[in-house]
Amino acid sequence: MTVPVAHIAVTKRFSQFTLDCDVTFETGATSVFGPSGSGKTTLLNCIAGLTRPDSGQITVMGTTLFSASERKVVPPEKRRFGYVFQSSALFPNMNVRKNILYGYHLTPEGQRTTDPEQLFELFDLTRLLDRSVDTLSGGERQRVALARALATSPRLLLLDEPLASLDVSFKGAIIRYLKRVRQELETPMIYVSHSVSEVVALADEILVLSEGRPVAQGPPSEVLVRPDVGTMADYGALENLLDATVVERRSEQGLSVIDVGGVELAAPEIDAGPGDLLTVSVRAGDIILTLDVPTRISAQNILPGRIEAIHAQGPRVIAHVDVGTVLVVELTPRAISDLALREGTQVYLIVKSNSVLALDALDGGSGNR
Ligand code: ATP
Repeated sequence: MTVPVAHIAVTKRFSQFTLDCDVTFETGATSVFGPSGSGKTTLLNCIAGLTRPDSGQITVMGTTLFSASERKVVPPEKRRFGYVFQSSALFPNMNVRKNILYGYHLTPEGQRTTDPEQLFELFDLTRLLDRSVDTLSGGERQRVALARALATSPRLLLLDEPLASLDVSFKGAIIRYLKRVRQELETPMIYVSHSVSEVVALADEILVLSEGRPVAQGPPSEVLVRPDVGTMADYGALENLLDATVVERRSEQGLSVIDVGGVELAAPEIDAGPGDLLTVSVRAGDIILTLDVPTRISAQNILPGRIEAIHAQGPRVIAHVDVGTVLVVELTPRAISDLALREGTQVYLIVKSNSVLALDALDGGSGNR
């Protein structure tokens, strides 16, 4: 039997709030999701050892870190976790390399599982290593913060809204780097967020908190469409965050052709060449669904697909459409009835090229991997 990433059964009472959680995280990337004040940070701080629970037990990868009954409290620095916040403070007088190597050198040799050179490469920091951290952009600072956290060879990476303070153009890059961390380092992560799009893009599993208690847990595609969870989620901003590869740049037409999971899309011209990787966003509300092949239409992207699932969210309906990759499309209940849409219906999605936003196009050409 595989050991779960974490089992957390704790209570923590503040004057006007109580966290009361008994949850197991089984998979590599779990997102803790919920409205403001639901206890996400309190839970993460309990796991990190920054907040001491009133009762209960915390076990991570088979090691008990806190047990009220056994009076056991492992201090934060002995838990061997990496922790990255919204805007992590870097050491201001050090350059990028020294910031990252600091944690590496503090880790006893026998416990080192990450190689700093691999981290420099993984976060595309090689050309920034000698720069003072004070001169970095917000996105670059978060990349350094993540590399520094991982340089300590953490057993678990704790992320508290790591994209919240970033400009939208940098978010895609960080998401892409976090996906690389999952693929290349296999460091398990717990990711606190109130953004549906981030959760969908990153997490294998999601835990939803409401007023200090778990209300749902499971794969994002199942949990986020539950009506009780849907009311907490800001679906107005629901985006498809997709990994893409540049196929071709057509400057004369002012566009780039990108490949998303085997599907080619035209996008506004992106400053990147064939083979470069990037993350693109397509808002769920910007996609139009039709039953017939549209003709004489200005939109560049017409994608045949099949409806996989339809979920009602109050006045909105969210459809998952498989066009080779699965896109989330926002519809009205009226569209569902007028077009008699149901699971299995063959449809066409129309995506204007201007609706395809390259999120990390401003991030200094960090592609080519
Ligand atoms: P957000 O998304 O806004 O960051 P959150 O889900 O992370 O919210 P927490 O920061 O965990 O929520 O806070 C949960 C509740 O506990 C809030 O009502 C907060 O005011 C309260 N709280 C947190 N820390 C303390 C404290 N040290 N003393 C008293 N109340 C606290």
